[in-house]
Amino acid sequence: MPQRSGPKIWALLFVVLLLGVVGSVSYLGWRQSTPGVQAVATPPRFLGQKTAFTVVVEARGGNVAQVDVRVVQNTKSTSVVKQEGARGGRLELPVAVDSAALGLREGAATVEVWARDDFWRPLRRDDRAIAAYPVTVDLTPPKIEVLAATHYIAPGGSGLVAFRVTGAARADVTAGPLTFRSFAFGPADRGARVALIALPWDFDPAAPLTIRATDEAGNAAARGIPAELLPRKFPRDTIEIREPFLQAKVPELLPQRPPNQSLVDGFLVINRDLRRQAEEAKRRIGATSADKPLWEGPFVQPRNSKVFANFAELRTYVFGGHEIDRQVHFGYDLASTRQSAVPAANKGVVAFVEPLTIYGNTVVIDHGLGLQTLYAHLSSTAVKVGDAVAKGQEIGRTGSTGLAIGDHLHYEVLVNGVSVTPLEWWDAKWIRDRIGKPLKEAGLPEISGAEARDEDPASRPAPRASRRRGR
Ligand SMILES: [Zn+2]
Repeated sequence: MPQRSGPKIWALLFVVLLLGVVGSVSYLGWRQSTPGVQAVATPPRFLGQKTAFTVVVEARGGNVAQVDVRVVQNTKSTSVVKQEGARGGRLELPVAVDSAALGLREGAATVEVWARDDFWRPLRRDDRAIAAYPVTVDLTPPKIEVLAATHYIAPGGSGLVAFRVTGAARADVTAGPLTFRSFAFGPADRGARVALIALPWDFDPAAPLTIRATDEAGNAAARGIPAELLPRKFPRDTIEIREPFLQAKVPELLPQRPPNQSLVDGFLVINRDLRRQAEEAKRRIGATSADKPLWEGPFVQPRNSKVFANFAELRTYVFGGHEIDRQVHFGYDLASTRQSAVPAANKGVVAFVEPLTIYGNTVVIDHGLGLQTLYAHLSSTAVKVGDAVAKGQEIGRTGSTGLAIGDHLHYEVLVNGVSVTPLEWWDAKWIRDRIGKPLKEAGLPEISGAEARDEDPASRPAPRASRRRGR
């Protein structure tokens, strides 16, 4: 028996040894073949005067131990940011390239990401770049040339800015904190752009009006707009809120309200939160405006309608003898007979037909270049989104849906979703002087029905705030 067990033991030992060798070799092979750190986010294609981006690296085994982001140009390689002793499998590294500090010149360059992990491998790898991205260094900011602008602008009013910009990927006009889109306008070889702008009713007279342009490399340029600000006063009013109104409107506008909420608290949610939601919706709709003017000549007001609330009226809401809220009214309230026809104020395309919180059933017509009109509290609508409408065409009937006391049309003019006084756009002379004239001065094609007349003096007109109350 013992003589026969010898070869078996040797065979067993051999198998164990073989498994050990194979196991070790494959373990070492797995160690060696585990990939190193990889870059998972790409830097920009351009480097400007100052460029910020984020490099993201991930270790496939172990932790990220070192990252070095370098910019290489004409064989000169400079480290921009280096992090050593990093821990964790993933690292997000903010990178800020200051081209002047690095001595970069305009032209081609490469952004390299060097990185390694702390994963043990039998053979140490040479340090090398894990990613190299070709970039273009562009240090020239865009050029802005102001062609013309509306001379006099008032808070709650509109204006036009015409300019030319070269080497920009994007150009906007800012009025204080608000940004207005600009649109290519006129012959392509002139490279002109126009922007309709609106000053909010409470515009800070010290806030700048500025054309801002940026290129793909993030280089920015800005130019002030030579416009003079006219003062304008806005009316005040007190709105008495009564119990039957709350009983009718609060459940309609807040169907999901908590059972223990009082009607007055419900009203305040509507008057504050739902009002703010409607403002945000107006901005979103404004961003969809057509890139060319669709309107012609002055806007029209519904026939035989009486004004009973003005633009930017500061309203104090009183309930049971106590002030409960203050809000600004952003339109004109126009009333005639119940369920009277509502005409489109001008040519355009229907941009919105939906109930809109406090506005009730609402239609917004887009007139292009950011200019839109809004019709609220409608009892019925006669158009759908995308319909082209003619000036004066019936788009619905007046009503009292939303937060309305009595049947009327709430009418607004919007520029990029910012409410402005409709008075200016109802006035053919204002349109010729304030929109047509700067276009003519800029040598750009005129908008039909807005042609500036030579005999119109550029006299400084007094701002108007008409106020006729029907009730
Ligand atoms: Zn209103």
